[in-house]
Amino acid sequence: MMYEPIGGYVEGEPEKGLPDYIERAWSGKGWIFQDFDAFENWPDHVCYIPEFIDAKYTGEDFLRLARGQEEIARDMFYECSGETPEDWLACQIESGRVIRCGRCGTLYYKKRKKVCPYCGK
Ligand SMILES: [Zn+2]
Repeated sequence: MMYEPIGGYVEGEPEKGLPDYIERAWSGKGWIFQDFDAFENWPDHVCYIPEFIDAKYTGEDFLRLARGQEEIARDMFYECSGETPEDWLACQIESGRVIRCGRCGTLYYKKRKKVCPYCGK
């Protein structure tokens, strides 16, 4: 599946005094920049900027925040609609959908695994 990006982003050129250009658009829940093609195909390109702060996230950032768990990184990207990915993750952990292993820190979906898939705790 492929969607048009929400809003637009052009990386600035600080050496020329050009700031980043960020144009947010309405996601249905918030004003954001979100680029699905960048997330899927260019993991080092900016693919998400949340509603209230000019924080730029790449696909690699999503994967890092998900502790390398691709399914969680993917859901995190597609379900973010204004919040920061960090806030999304905190909500998932709070609601019990995602478990953060108390021993090794691995993230995993409760519906998929009953114990940590890495350390078995
Ligand atoms: Zn573990």
